[in-house]
Amino acid sequence: MLIVMHHGATAAQILAVEEAVEAMGLRAEPIPGSERTAIGVLGNQGYVDDTTIRELPGVREVIHVSKPYKLVSRDFHPAPTVVEAGGVLVGEGLPPVIMAGPCSIESEAQMLASARLVKAAGAHILRGGAFKPRTGPHTFQGLGVEGLKYLRSAGDETGMPVVTEVMRIGQLEDVCRYADILQIGARNMQNFDLLKEVGKTGHPVLLKRGMSATIEEFLSAAEYILAEGNERVILCERGIRTFERATRNTLDLSVATLIRELSHLPIIVDPSHATGKRSLVPVMSKAALVAGAHGLMIEVHPEPEKALCDGAQSLNGEGFTGLMNDLRGLMKYLGY
Ligand code: PEP
Ligand code: MN
Repeated sequence: MLIVMHHGATAAQILAVEEAVEAMGLRAEPIPGSERTAIGVLGNQGYVDDTTIRELPGVREVIHVSKPYKLVSRDFHPAPTVVEAGGVLVGEGLPPVIMAGPCSIESEAQMLASARLVKAAGAHILRGGAFKPRTGPHTFQGLGVEGLKYLRSAGDETGMPVVTEVMRIGQLEDVCRYADILQIGARNMQNFDLLKEVGKTGHPVLLKRGMSATIEEFLSAAEYILAEGNERVILCERGIRTFERATRNTLDLSVATLIRELSHLPIIVDPSHATGKRSLVPVMSKAALVAGAHGLMIEVHPEPEKALCDGAQSLNGEGFTGLMNDLRGLMKYLGY
């Protein structure tokens, strides 16, 4: 529920409304606006009887928010959130942030070569998976903590913050120690216990959309993290599962625009997992920025043909450098 105060409502009237909400056993969250103040009501399990609130002096209207997410919504938080992660800012009005690196950390040398390559091309954040959610158990599962160390030192050596996936609560301590951003993968988007624990860390989070998640489910997953007091959430569209098998997933590009209407959180696009095809990554990267994405996550490998994971969708050094050059031109055109 959202209580909208009159333009000239006094501080005392606002306080009286907050006290009335709290007397009902609910939480009041004032949202000051340039025109008028609104008060968000949290903690209700269902419909709230608003008769007493409606009659309080200074109250203009009461809006019942039926969406399952509140803290992530624009209704509750009209101003866009800029997430700071390892010194890099991601969000509305800022130049798009490029996260790049291999799908998996394979060795110290491969990670460092990848980091140097993406840094030289202009990437801002280094990616690499140490704990890999693979479809089958007989494929490379990642180097674990050893991989985290390689990622961290490659990031430090090239001056980039690092992002990596955490698959379960037991890995959280190690991932927090070595990474600047905790990635929640598509397969774990609705692992609610993990989302809550990630929320408690206060660490920046990259939350990927589940393969079959609706936008409402996606934003509700983010709500779990914000509900623990962590607002440093970056959303990531990575394609969804549809009937189409010609591409690995179907890139739902409208999300980049729609999320910016529904939520104050930044949204980036991962064209690598969305398409599964190297040849489609450059054009979908550009399309994502035109659609308003606040950044991209792109898989890059020094030798994609030898990659232990996702080689077919990984750009090599030349491909990524060419793409970054094109993106610079596009960003100029878009006014960044
Ligand atoms: C990844 O980023 O390497 C990954 C596994 O992505 P997703 O969770 O989107 O499949
Ligand atoms: Mn991958």
